[in-house]
Amino acid sequence: MDFPSIHRPSYVEINLNNIKKNIKNIQHHLKNNEDIFAVVKADAYSHGLVEVSRAAIESGVTGLCVATLDEALTLREASIIEPILVLGVTDAKYAPLAAQQNISLTVASKGWLAFTQNENFDGLKVHIKIDSGMGRIGITKREELLEACDILKKDSRFISEGIFTHFATADEPDDTYFQYQLDTFKKITKDLPINFKYKHVANSATTLWRDDSGFNMIRLGIAMYGLNPSGTAIDLPYEIKPAFSLQSEIVFVKKVKPKTKIGYGATYEAPEEEWIATVPIGYADGWLRRMQGFEVLVDGNRCPIVGRVCMDQLMIKLPGPYVPGTKVTLLGQNGDDEVSIQEAADYADTINYEIICSLSSRLPRIYK
Ligand SMILES: *Cc1c(COP(=O)(O)O)cnc(C)c1O
Repeated sequence: MDFPSIHRPSYVEINLNNIKKNIKNIQHHLKNNEDIFAVVKADAYSHGLVEVSRAAIESGVTGLCVATLDEALTLREASIIEPILVLGVTDAKYAPLAAQQNISLTVASKGWLAFTQNENFDGLKVHIKIDSGMGRIGITKREELLEACDILKKDSRFISEGIFTHFATADEPDDTYFQYQLDTFKKITKDLPINFKYKHVANSATTLWRDDSGFNMIRLGIAMYGLNPSGTAIDLPYEIKPAFSLQSEIVFVKKVKPKTKIGYGATYEAPEEEWIATVPIGYADGWLRRMQGFEVLVDGNRCPIVGRVCMDQLMIKLPGPYVPGTKVTLLGQNGDDEVSIQEAADYADTINYEIICSLSSRLPRIYK
C-alpha cells in the first residue's frame, strides 16, 4: 500500500486462486443461499484490499465490508461499484460523502442519526447495528431501536438497507453465549416497522459451524483467506486453503567460531562452529521480536531464528553452507515442509488474524 520496499527480496505472496476457491467452496456449503459480503478491512487482512476485492467479486460475492470510510473510498477509486458497508462508526459529518459514493454506513445509536440532521445528503444507505452481547458498538435497547426506526421511516434521505449484530464467541466450542446473543438479537428485532433488505449475523465462525436460518447475508472474513477462525479449537467442516505466504532470501552468510555472539544484547552465543545467515526482514515489517527462536524454512530445512529480531533484519542458524540468494520461507510451504500461520500464532501467543495483520506495507504483495 504505502511504501513497499521493492528492491529487497522480502515479500508477501498471495494466491488469489485459493481465495476464489475458498469463496466458491463456502458458498457451495451455505444452507440458505445467503448473499456473501467479503470482509476486506485492514487491507483485506493484509492480503491487499483492491486485488482481493476484485477476486472476491469475480467469485460471486454480492458486496464488501470494510472497517473505515477511507477503505471504502479506496475501493470506489479503484472503480469497484459493488455494495460496500462500513462496519465501524463513521462521523456523521461524512454522511454526504458516503451517500455521494454509494457507501453504506453503520448506525450504532439513535444519537448518530440525530447528528446527521444538519448534514446535506440524499440516498444514504444504512445498516443498524445491534449490540447483542459483544459490548463494542450498537443499540442494546428495543426502545432506542424503535426510535431509530422511526427516524429512518420519516427521513426519506435514508435507505434502510440492513440490520445486524456480531458474535463474541462463535469461534468457541461452547455455544451458550452464542445462543444467548442470537436470542437477544431475534427478540430485539422482532416485528420492526421497517422491512430491512438484509438481516445479518454471521462472521466466518458462524458460517462454518452454526447453521442458523432466517438471515440472508453473511460477512465472510478470515475463512475466505483460508484460516480457521477458532485457531485450533474447532476443526474445519470442509477444506479451505490459506492464500498467504511470507518469503525472503539469505543476503549474507558466515561461518562463525564457537562462542560468537549474535545480535542485539548479544543474547545468542554459538555453542560450536556454525553457519549463520542474515535475512532482511524484521519487526518493522511486522515480524515481531517475540518470533526469536521460531523457525524458518531454507531448502526444506527448519532453521531457528537466533538472537533478537532486529528492526529490519534477523539471523538464522543454517544446517550448512547456503549461498546468498537462497530462498527463505517464513510462512508457507518450502520443499516438503510448511510453517503455518497458526504455528506462528501459537508461538507468538496470539491469533492467526494478528500474525497476518501485523505484516506491514513495507513488504510488497505479489500475486499469483
Ligand atoms: C471483522 C468482522 C467480521 C469478519 O470476521 P471474521 O471472523 O474474519 O469472519 C464480521 N463482522 C464484523 C462486524 C467484523 O468486525
